Amino acid sequence: MIKPNEVADKAALKESENYAFRVFLKNNADPDELDEQFKRLHKELFSEYDCSKCRNCCKMFRAVIPSEDIEKDAQQLGMPDEEFINSFLEYDDSEQAYKTKNRPCNFLNNGDCVLGEHKPEECRLYPYTDQPDRLFSLLSLIESAEVCPIVYEMFERLKKEYNFKKETQTILLMKIIGD
Ligand code: SF4
Ligand code: SF4
Repeated sequence: MIKPNEVADKAALKESENYAFRVFLKNNADPDELDEQFKRLHKELFSEYDCSKCRNCCKMFRAVIPSEDIEKDAQQLGMPDEEFINSFLEYDDSEQAYKTKNRPCNFLNNGDCVLGEHKPEECRLYPYTDQPDRLFSLLSLIESAEVCPIVYEMFERLKKEYNFKKETQTILLMKIIGD
């Protein structure tokens, strides 16, 4: 598995290949089958990975804190709602939601989220690789491959499963022969 501090550079080198793979999947993959492949890889790769040694996602994104979470999050940290908001959050007009003030996220502490089981749903779901309709979310997954070592690895394994390089080489060869 690629190291967390290497994923941005390595993914940048793969960027054009990943976009070509997206086009390939759009033209060749069955949506349900692709969802199953992502789900299988998600289960397999996360089961043997310790996210506390990475936390790239918490370092690179500001978390969205839904208004309905504020009371329980403030309780988790033992403070009144208003103090919680003033200390850690700011309102993002474009998203019409509270977000953490800083990057890395204010709630990241020694590789753990201090919100514990109350962490926002979008953090629990990230990188969304076990969610449905992945064929229609490939652009955001390519972006995640620049942050998350697991997503990076998934793309590499899927390319092998789809014989991606071989396929593209064959198409190129056929084009050359055709010319
Ligand atoms: S979800 Fe991905 S980016 Fe976030 S900590 Fe786990 S491996 Fe790292
Ligand atoms: S709220 Fe917790 S899980 Fe979400 S980005 Fe912040 S530290 Fe990470």
